[in-house]
Amino acid sequence: MKPVVVRFAPSPTGYLHIGGARTAIFNWLFARQNEEKFILRIEDTDAERSTEDAIEGILRGLEWLGLDWDEGPDFQSRHVKAHRAAAEQLLESGHAYKCFCTKEELDRKREAARKEKKTYQYDGACRNLTPEEVKKREAAGEPYIIRLKVPRRPDAVVFEDKVFGIIEKRYEDIEDFVLVRANGQPLYVLANAVDDIRDGVTHIIRGQDGLANTPKQILIYQSLDAPLPVFAHMSLTLDPQKAKISKRRHGEQVAIHYYREHGLLPWAMVNFLTLLGWATTDSKEIFNPQELVQAFHLQGISRANSVFNIQPNDPKFFTDPKLININAHYLRNMPVEELFPFVKQQLFSAGMWDTLFESEKKEWFLKTVALIRERFHVLSDFTTLGAAYFSDAFPMDETAVRKNLFGKDAAPAWLGDLADQIDTLTPFDAKSVEALLREFLKANNLKPGKLINAVRTAVTGQSKGPEFIEVLLCIGPERISRRLRRAAVFQD
Ligand code: GLU
Repeated sequence: MKPVVVRFAPSPTGYLHIGGARTAIFNWLFARQNEEKFILRIEDTDAERSTEDAIEGILRGLEWLGLDWDEGPDFQSRHVKAHRAAAEQLLESGHAYKCFCTKEELDRKREAARKEKKTYQYDGACRNLTPEEVKKREAAGEPYIIRLKVPRRPDAVVFEDKVFGIIEKRYEDIEDFVLVRANGQPLYVLANAVDDIRDGVTHIIRGQDGLANTPKQILIYQSLDAPLPVFAHMSLTLDPQKAKISKRRHGEQVAIHYYREHGLLPWAMVNFLTLLGWATTDSKEIFNPQELVQAFHLQGISRANSVFNIQPNDPKFFTDPKLININAHYLRNMPVEELFPFVKQQLFSAGMWDTLFESEKKEWFLKTVALIRERFHVLSDFTTLGAAYFSDAFPMDETAVRKNLFGKDAAPAWLGDLADQIDTLTPFDAKSVEALLREFLKANNLKPGKLINAVRTAVTGQSKGPEFIEVLLCIGPERISRRLRRAAVFQD
């Protein structure tokens, strides 16, 4: 069997976006499944629109998602000579010709077609110039472009797209399209095909917008005597209103970095994006990397457009709730050692990182992460809902404070007494803490719920959290008593 070679070929005109990432993911999965080559090629021939920042952003986005490539990044602009050489080869083999029609002539013909309400197509005026005439006009310095000599046949270019099925484009509907501009610049359809041929790409998995180029590219392949790759075009991603996901409509939320900045785990993102337009027969939704690589197949790519609830109406969600749920699944279930670098980065960015968390306090840190993540959805929850575990400057949830520390007959004058008792408690362990609290409830005639809520709020800033005693053990006696005293003063 022929080795599989796939590529991701972004044009660096903006950051890595949802659609590009999904294309990259499908190519990567396909390559990894076949244990074959995944090439990264930056299609930067549009010098005016390509930027260094965009290249940087694309590379960083792919790295963050964990989509490693085997070759590249290659740059299309490095191969301009090869693109021109291919055009020369096509001229020599008679598959292409030089066209001397001026812009004015072509505009005039286009305008005439418009008036007659006909679709304009180049009429092939230069298709059959004699070699002598070509030579003469060239020698006279007339500028020319190079066009492909599309076979004039009554049938159609036919190919089977792995997603869209049999596609036909009648030859008569394909004009003799341009391969090289008058200034010598090769056109994108040519450059893209020539690069894929050189790199031995066997499967072209790309967005649906590439479909318009495919018949032309097939003609280029055939004219260059190159074997055809398999094509698989991916349908669009829409928002719930059925509008195409776009920067104009959805702003930063189309950018992969938005999700990174909002505390999503890269694999959760890969898992979610794969489900946009791809499904297994058993509708399974959570796939670890090995499972996904194994399960992926081109036949599972859906022809129907997929829907990403990119901007849910409910302000509780900063993105599709399904994505948040998938993220929560990984956040809560992945080995805590694997989660460690992500939590570290999150704390670091929030100024809450302490190097002791990866030296003397590492065991404590991992235990704490394992304890508190149970209710978390995104990494930023560690620095908001979980801030009290890592820093003394943690936010107090206002509703919780009002309800549990200030509410009617809530004023816990006893907070200071409890702090005193905790100060002298030895040893400080589950058993002793439980016994102390039981005694304390009795002596102060308090209901357990009241004490738990008040202490939890004073100590963590939140009214909810993991098991109460576990929380206390995790925060430790010094911080507990300090915070209880602070809350007691706070009362006055
Ligand atoms: N550079 C093209 C794009 O970013 C890719 C086309 C292709 O994959 O063939 O849309």
